Amino acid sequence: MISCEGYATKHVAVVGLGQSGLAAARALCRSGARVLAWDDGEAARAAAKAEGIPVRDPSQIDWASQDALVLSPGIPHTYPTPHVAARMAKDAGVPIIGDVELLVTSGAQAPRIAITGTNGKSTTTALVGHILECVDRDAEVGGNLGPAICDMAMMEHDGTYVLELSSYQLELCPSARFKVSVLLNISPDHLDRHGGMHGYIMAKKRIFRAQGAGDCAIVGVDDENSREIYEELNAINQRVVVGVSCKEAVDGGVYVEGSNLIDDMMGAPVVVMDLSSLVNLPGQHNAQNIAAAYTVARTMNIPSDDIVKAIASFPGLAHRQERLDVSGNVTFVNDSKATNAEATAKALSCYENIYWIVGGRAKDGGLNGLDPFFASVRRAYLIGEAAEDFAVYLDGKVEVTVCGDLEAATKAALEDAEREGLDGATVLLSPAAASFDQYRSFEHRGDAFRSIVEELTNTPSSGGVGQSNMTRGAA
Ligand code: ADP
Repeated sequence: MISCEGYATKHVAVVGLGQSGLAAARALCRSGARVLAWDDGEAARAAAKAEGIPVRDPSQIDWASQDALVLSPGIPHTYPTPHVAARMAKDAGVPIIGDVELLVTSGAQAPRIAITGTNGKSTTTALVGHILECVDRDAEVGGNLGPAICDMAMMEHDGTYVLELSSYQLELCPSARFKVSVLLNISPDHLDRHGGMHGYIMAKKRIFRAQGAGDCAIVGVDDENSREIYEELNAINQRVVVGVSCKEAVDGGVYVEGSNLIDDMMGAPVVVMDLSSLVNLPGQHNAQNIAAAYTVARTMNIPSDDIVKAIASFPGLAHRQERLDVSGNVTFVNDSKATNAEATAKALSCYENIYWIVGGRAKDGGLNGLDPFFASVRRAYLIGEAAEDFAVYLDGKVEVTVCGDLEAATKAALEDAEREGLDGATVLLSPAAASFDQYRSFEHRGDAFRSIVEELTNTPSSGGVGQSNMTRGAA
C-alpha cells in the first residue's frame, strides 16, 4: 500500500469511495491523516464506515481546516457542474488532488511511466507491463485500469510504476513528473467534463508538464492534435521526444511500414518485427499501441530482441478483440469493450468471414460509419434493445437474424459458421452499443460471451489478461 506520510497530521477529505477512493482513504488513515470521507451512494458510505473510516457530508465539513480534497476522477470539479465538495473546497482555497498525487508525494523512489490517449491506453499499459514481466523487471501496473494507485506497493529505484492515466486523473496530479510520458492519440471525448475540446487537450498535455532533462515524451503523431503537441515539445527541447506512427515514417521515431515495425531512434531505420502474425494484437490501431510500448521498453534499455519476444507472447487484453482459446475451426473474438461504432470499425477491419454479434443499448449515431466494413460480414446477429433499429439500418446491406439475446446469437452464429465452413470464419462479438440493457457492464457482457462459447464448444478458454480488472471509465 502507498504510504502517505506527508499527510500524517493533515486533514484530508476523500470524496468518492469506489475502489480507488476507498484505497486512498485507507492509505491516508493508515499514514495518520485525519480523514473525512464521503460518497453520494449509501452503500459506499456504509462500506467505509464498516472499516472505521470517518464519514461526513461535504456540506457539514469545515473546509477552512482541510489541507486537501482527494477527489475520485469520475466526479466533476469544474464542468459540467462541480460537485458540492469540489465547489466548497475551491471556495476555501483547498487543493483538489487525486490518488496519483498521493503516489508522487509518497516518497516511493521508482520511476513512473504514464500512458494516456483517447484510445489504446489499457492495451498499451498492459503490454508495457507484460514486457517488463517477461524481462523480470519489478513493476506495479495500474491506474485507470487494474489495481487502484494507493493499493500499489512502495517501490525503490529498481522498480517501475506503469500508470494508465485518464484525462480526469491528469487534472488531479498537479506535481506529478513522469520519467516517461506517452500520449497515444486524441479524438473528441468527454468534452462535457472538460468544457470542450480545448480543455480536453489541455488535460492530456498535463502528462508532459513537469518533465525536464532526462525524461522522455513518446507521442503518437497520427492525429492532428497529437502531432501539434509533438511539434511543440520538440520545439521546447527540454526532454527526449520520440514520435510514434502506425501510418508514416517518423524521423528518429518508431513507426509501422506495411506490417513491419521500424525503429529509427538511433538515426538509421531498423526493421524490428513483422506485426502481421500477432493474432492477439490485430489491426492498425494495435500497431500504434505496439509501437508506443516498444518505445517505452527501449527507453528503459531493454534489448530489442527481448521486447519482440515479449510482444509476441502478449495474451491480449480481455474484452478488446480478445481471441478466445477454444477448439474447432471457428475463431471466437470477444470485443465487448466496443460500445460504439468507431470501436467496432476497428474490429470489423481485422477479420474476414465475420459472423457479427451486434446490439445492446444504442449510442448516438448507431451504426453510422460502418458501411465500408460490411463486405467481410457474412451475417449480423442482433441482440438487445437496439436490435430492431439496427435491423432497419442494415436492411439491404447485410443479412441479419434478430436473436434477442447473446446466447441465441452465439448459437446461431456458430451454426452458420460451421455449416458454411469458410476459411477464417470468425464469430465476433463487437456490439457497437452499451451493455446496460442486459448486463451490468461491458466486462459482464464479455464474460457471459466467454461462458457461452466455452459451453458451446466444450472447451474452457484461457482468455486475455485483466479479466477481473475493473476500468474507471474515462479517456
Ligand atoms: P482505452 O483504455 O483507452 O479505452 P483500450 O486499450 O481499452 O483503450 O482499447 C479500447 C478500444 O479502443 C479497442 O477495443 C479498440 O476498438 C480501440 N483502440 C485501441 N487502441 C487504439 C488506438 N491506438 N487507436 C484507436 N483506437 C484504439
